[in-house]
Amino acid sequence: MGWSQLLAWVYPNRYEVGMSNIGYQWLYGLLREYPHILTERFFFEKVGEFTSLEGGRKLSEFPVIAVSMPFELDILNFLEMLRASGVPLKAEDRSDKGPIIVGGGNALTLNPFPFAYFFDLIVLGDGADWATRFPEILRNNPPGLADKEAILDESAIIEGAWIPSRDDGGDIQKAGANRTEPAYTPILTSFGHFRNMFLVEVQRGCPFSCGFCASRWLGLPFENFTAKAILQAFDDFGQSAERVGLVGSAIAEHDELMAIIEGFRERGVKVHTSSIRLDRISADSLKLLAESGLKTVTFAPETASEKLARKIGKWIPPEDMIAAAQKLSRLGFVEMKLYWIIGLPGESMADIEQNIAAIEGIVGAADIRVSCSVNPFIPKPHSRFSAEPMLSHTELSARFGRLKSALHGIPNLKLELNYSARSRLSAALSTCDREITHALIEMANGSGIRISLKKAGIDLNDEIIAPIDSGFERIR
Ligand code: SF4
Repeated sequence: MGWSQLLAWVYPNRYEVGMSNIGYQWLYGLLREYPHILTERFFFEKVGEFTSLEGGRKLSEFPVIAVSMPFELDILNFLEMLRASGVPLKAEDRSDKGPIIVGGGNALTLNPFPFAYFFDLIVLGDGADWATRFPEILRNNPPGLADKEAILDESAIIEGAWIPSRDDGGDIQKAGANRTEPAYTPILTSFGHFRNMFLVEVQRGCPFSCGFCASRWLGLPFENFTAKAILQAFDDFGQSAERVGLVGSAIAEHDELMAIIEGFRERGVKVHTSSIRLDRISADSLKLLAESGLKTVTFAPETASEKLARKIGKWIPPEDMIAAAQKLSRLGFVEMKLYWIIGLPGESMADIEQNIAAIEGIVGAADIRVSCSVNPFIPKPHSRFSAEPMLSHTELSARFGRLKSALHGIPNLKLELNYSARSRLSAALSTCDREITHALIEMANGSGIRISLKKAGIDLNDEIIAPIDSGFERIR
């Protein structure tokens, strides 16, 4: 049987970012199992037309366009892709015969309402049920021939499905993740940071509940995948990889971490990890990671202020960070990467000074490169701090400015200050509802972020806070 139905599988960012995203890759692997569907990948590349990686086809040729959106700001890229391809941005402006546009991913799961007008179907939560049921729905209702409404009728049975044109999202249940097998990346990329690295999920969700973070809610129920299943996934699909990346929110909490690292070491591959809680990982596991070739360790103290850290629910005293830096240096690691948050609820300038002192202390105490990534606090839906404000632009600028002037130019310290109008837009997208739709369309047409939002009555200089009756609270 020849290919009959085209599905565009879009990651609205660069190729190397998308191919390093385990969710996007995993679902691509599931979609490819259906012989009646020809799934072709699209990425947001700034040069040239948006064409599929496999067949070089234009996006406008696809009757089904599905996008995986882990980050809110990627909506700008996606709208740009639609606009440049001549596809109407709003669902109501697209004809009955398609294209049908489906969205999923963490950004849409956390707060789908600002994006509602652009999608025919939004899938909240884990996408595995969608990736297995939707191809069958298309088999019975060929897109471009069947009415869009018929496809949407049948799609209502998909776990986590929300059809924004049919209801206001009064009470939506996100799809649960019921897998007992880990997700992994079926295709190795030869570009970027994750070159020739097999990424495998060692756990889903997070057992902790740090105030600013929604990972726990997103990944419910928390699950550690077994060492056997993780190593089996590598043996079946990752053998040509030179490196393996362990993906998880709380890797140090995995009770089989030693067995996992040992298993990969026996297979002769270097092991990399996402951020680790250095206060929780055992000395033996850290030593094994060093022996298996890991050079950089990332962890996220968030703040050096005990008052704020206790409010978050994650307190790592500065002296422990210093001890960790010294231990990493002794074990042969070359870089310690630290994540910090500025503008946490209740923060004052005195807390900023504590962060500065802690960073100076760490850099001065160990022979290791220290890289600090500093981000503003953004109120995330479904986190404990969802109703806290992002500080005004004036306040945040002063705090970032103080960090910059105090830490700029210190040898062995790399400072990344990630604060801009885009951070404020990200906060607006986390907290607002459909009122932002028109501003997003204006941005897709080339208008600046501040001007577009001002027209929608949102002043980016003000504090950004979710309204008391936020729509996202209706998602369970
Ligand atoms: S910040 Fe990290 S440890 Fe805390 S809840 Fe989020 S993922 Fe878990």
